[in-house]
Amino acid sequence: MALAQQVKIKELSEYGFKLLSSYKNLDTEIKLSCKNNHEFTITLKEFRKSLKCPICKQTESHKTLALDNATNITGYAIIQDGKLLDYGLIKSKGNKLF
Ligand SMILES: [Zn+2]
Repeated sequence: MALAQQVKIKELSEYGFKLLSSYKNLDTEIKLSCKNNHEFTITLKEFRKSLKCPICKQTESHKTLALDNATNITGYAIIQDGKLLDYGLIKSKGNKLF
């Protein structure tokens, strides 16, 4: 196994992710799986910005309650282990919420 591959497997496992494809470079897409066995494809460069599984991020931690296109105000709820931890309003610009 190439050294770069071994180094990346170690780096990703420290964040709780498994590398499922071969690593070439920062700009080449790799396949990862998270603790919840979600599989997703991302470049390492992009992944390092958030270090989060995009599926977990969308389905578990943040749930959009409502979106008002006219004011760009949306609601959010942070839910962990089925409990509502926090909720409120988010102001967003365009289509980007965070
Ligand atoms: Zn996940």
